Amino acid sequence: MVTLAVAILVLLLAPADASAQKNGPPEIVVTLLGTGSPTIMETRAGPSTMVQAGSQTLIFDAGRGALQRLMQTGSDFGAVNAVFLTHLHSDEVVGLPDLWLTGWLLSGRETPLPLYGPAGTAAMASHLRQAFEFDIRFRIDDDKSSPTGAEVRVTEVREGVVYDVDGVRVTAFEVDHQPVTPAFGYRVDYAGRSVVVAGDTRFSKNLIKFAAGVDLLVHPVADASERFLQRNPGFEVVLGHSTSAAEAGAIFSEVKPKLAVYSHIVLREITNAELVLRTRESYEGPLMIGEDLQRFVVTADDITVYRR
Ligand SMILES: [Zn+2]
Repeated sequence: MVTLAVAILVLLLAPADASAQKNGPPEIVVTLLGTGSPTIMETRAGPSTMVQAGSQTLIFDAGRGALQRLMQTGSDFGAVNAVFLTHLHSDEVVGLPDLWLTGWLLSGRETPLPLYGPAGTAAMASHLRQAFEFDIRFRIDDDKSSPTGAEVRVTEVREGVVYDVDGVRVTAFEVDHQPVTPAFGYRVDYAGRSVVVAGDTRFSKNLIKFAAGVDLLVHPVADASERFLQRNPGFEVVLGHSTSAAEAGAIFSEVKPKLAVYSHIVLREITNAELVLRTRESYEGPLMIGEDLQRFVVTADDITVYRR
């Protein structure tokens, strides 16, 4: 029998004000900015998730279109307190220069952007700074943009608490995205509520450990039909880095989140209905297939889902 631990309401209208407030309500608001992958899709931007809790607005990964989607939520880059990268595959970071530079230009941001990520993040940020040197110089001289706003302050993370501001705690934990290592997932805790953004991973026992009992689990999935794999045997490599629907179900069964949501979705010749069926082989709990700009308000009582 399926028991829903929480009432999950799906509403069609988003609340007017999506921005986090200082000393705001004891809830975490999660917005899927992008639910896609390297594949170029009209409906799914690259992977990116916004988590708002108390005074903090945090972005996890900055895939293709992250800034565009951020704008569509009504939030402003100037309000972003920090960006966290799960790993350095291009689909997670290709939207970072846009988020950082266009965001700086348009928002008038005057403070450096705190950027957290695995080993290699500092080198990547420094190379990006070099690549955009020309633009940055002119924006400062010509557009009078703030020089400090153009800076990125990098922290390379290891497993453990990596961020703790105004009661919002972010814990990094290693996931298994072999051979891409290091790769992290992040858990956000605030006012007794919790959210895990898994990033991109294969079946990971460490993820199960760190995510146990979390309210909202945002998890990737990659799956394909037998027919597709026969025609495209090379796709096995992608599946080998990733979590299948059946494996995801097994993870959800152990984690027992109040709600499991798929994001970073890679499907080949599999419908959403088939994705759910394959997940249901091993998991009977609350499950949603994420959509861009879907918003989850996590309170002590329930999780309310707003669709755009
Ligand atoms: Zn990846």
